[in-house]
Amino acid sequence: MDFFRHFNNSCSNKSLMELLEEHGFTRRDFLKWSSGMATMLGLGATFAPSIANAVENNASNTPVIWLHMAECTGCSESLLRSDAPTIDSLIFDYLNIEYHETVMAASGHQADENLENAIKKHAGKYVLLVEGAVPAGSSSFYLTLGAKGHTGEEIAKNACANAAAILAIGTCSSFGGIQAAAPNPTNAVPISKITNKSVINVPGCPPSEKNIVGSILQILLFGTMPLDNFNRPKWAYEHRIHDYCERRGHFDAGEFVESFGDEGAKKGYCLYKVGCKGPYTFNNCAKQRFNQHINWPIGAGHGCIGCSEPDFWDSMRTYEEPLKSHLFQSVFSGMGADAMSDKIGIGVLTLTGVAIAAHASIAAIKKDKE
Ligand code: SF4
Ligand code: SF4
Repeated sequence: MDFFRHFNNSCSNKSLMELLEEHGFTRRDFLKWSSGMATMLGLGATFAPSIANAVENNASNTPVIWLHMAECTGCSESLLRSDAPTIDSLIFDYLNIEYHETVMAASGHQADENLENAIKKHAGKYVLLVEGAVPAGSSSFYLTLGAKGHTGEEIAKNACANAAAILAIGTCSSFGGIQAAAPNPTNAVPISKITNKSVINVPGCPPSEKNIVGSILQILLFGTMPLDNFNRPKWAYEHRIHDYCERRGHFDAGEFVESFGDEGAKKGYCLYKVGCKGPYTFNNCAKQRFNQHINWPIGAGHGCIGCSEPDFWDSMRTYEEPLKSHLFQSVFSGMGADAMSDKIGIGVLTLTGVAIAAHASIAAIKKDKE
């Protein structure tokens, strides 16, 4: 038996509370976490007991298969931690992970067998998490895996066919990511393009552990969840980075970093003029942050690069300059700070981009005159 199966069995042999207590968490911490999750998922505090109940009673019985396609493994890294685990990462450990290539010791024929057995044993019942884009069609051989030499496309199609729910974890599996950036030599596509089943996209490069675990939790609780136009869970991707950014007051006041390291940078001014794509990007990073809520890119001094939007590698270049009049896939239906992702259609953002740039420069002029 490989290490990871052993690891999971050892986790699932323990109750959730035993596992949490082993890492220094109390029942009170767990209930506080459940309450925070209920709020984060937009369910209201009354759902906290249901969340605690779903995790304690259903999580260890839910089979999960995690596939790796063409990717960098950053999404797994975002979730799996070897030291100082969070309650989120321990809850993920507590799920019945049947297959996860990064952390299992099996290789070659044994790994192939593990996957085949898991799919057969839990057909129609497992949650499939896919990380990475899928080189497809006549280019599918660019991703050839395992002792039997199956393509990633074959493996993913087979796993999708028998899954109860499919979650695309990260921008590569959600939208193609950097693998699909022009000129896309391997014809990489998102997982949704190789199955006719519905796929929930959890994009981000990487998505935060909160967005991964929160989406799995909603599946455990309801089997599905409200999604936006790009099939992203609304609870996480409903608002723009710009709407909750800690530097927003500086944007409105026309106070901008003009170049990295200048006086404005030292004062924490807005990063729009050095390329921040927060006004065009839907994600909850400003609220949830990364690395146990410690910090996030804008907090650390670099603008948002728009990683949770489709085709951002192509449509949001260059990363350290404002967008000006580029073309985009998403377009705002309104300019308000409460513009929501489900109101956004597919189209051209040019006018909005110009309008935001104009707003920024008008505010800057006003500021200069003061
Ligand atoms: S442009 Fe970027 S740094 Fe400035 S307020 Fe918006 S999200 Fe924050
Ligand atoms: S701040 Fe922007 S680029 Fe960074 S992770 Fe969030 S959405 Fe992606």
